[in-house]
Amino acid sequence: MPDTVWINGEYHARDSATISVFDHGLLYGDGVFEGIRAYDGRIFRLEAHLRRLQDSAKAIALPIPMTLDELATACTETFRRSELRDAYFRVVVTRGIGDLGLNPMLCPSPTVIIIVATIRLFPPEKLREGVRLVTAATPVPHREALSPRVKSLNYLPHVMAKLEGLTAGADDVLMLDPSGSVAEGSGQNLFVVTEGVVRTPPPSAGILRGVTRDVVLEIAAGLGIPVREELLNRYDVYTAEEAFLTGTASEVVPVRSLDGRLIGEALPGPVTARLLEGFQALVRAGN
Ligand code: PMP
Repeated sequence: MPDTVWINGEYHARDSATISVFDHGLLYGDGVFEGIRAYDGRIFRLEAHLRRLQDSAKAIALPIPMTLDELATACTETFRRSELRDAYFRVVVTRGIGDLGLNPMLCPSPTVIIIVATIRLFPPEKLREGVRLVTAATPVPHREALSPRVKSLNYLPHVMAKLEGLTAGADDVLMLDPSGSVAEGSGQNLFVVTEGVVRTPPPSAGILRGVTRDVVLEIAAGLGIPVREELLNRYDVYTAEEAFLTGTASEVVPVRSLDGRLIGEALPGPVTARLLEGFQALVRAGN
């Protein structure tokens, strides 16, 4: 089996890729990560992902012990060794090995991990049928507790929200922020289309600023589709003409319903279909 994991400069096969039980990424969720896609042998928006990783790390005062160029080279080489053409990467930086106390200052060197694997979040028919969402009771964390803009190893609120959705028989969830505004999916950003205008919450609303979200905003601008980044509430989603989710793993997925209210008529809706087509063309072009 080709090597698919890189840990602190060394390549490992999947089964022998291990880290210490004293790593604070495991003990305290103290670390940050990225999920990145490669299509047909090319890594999509690597620089944007690594920049976000750097910002996440900075926000939690975690020094990444390599430059972004070195990290990009390691990603490219791990991808090459995996022999995959289409892949999903996970880049993880943890506080590293410490003692059983939570003091990060006792962790002298961060652990850097790159995993190259594959992922499928929703079955392909969901692109036609759309996903059914329910509103999660668990909100995204308050931005001053743990900013949702930090892609940290603390994903429990999102994991619990996803579990609530699956338990309720839905495909995924809509998470609100602590004040009740629309935030995001369990691992996706949310868009609605109202009177032909594409609307999505601004990053300052307390969401992860998705790389796919930014790509979709660029595609919309290129197609001359009006876009507004603004606070939304559930009413806006219930009454939208169309809604869709975006994410590295999910790509662009139409939303069929939220809390049992059907959204729009045809799936994917006409605006979603144009954006989806633009997205697929872009990833195939390797841009
Ligand atoms: N929100 C959350 C909570 C996520 O985990 C993700 C996936 N990284 C996204 C949004 C979408 O971000 P991206 O398009 O960069 O994958």
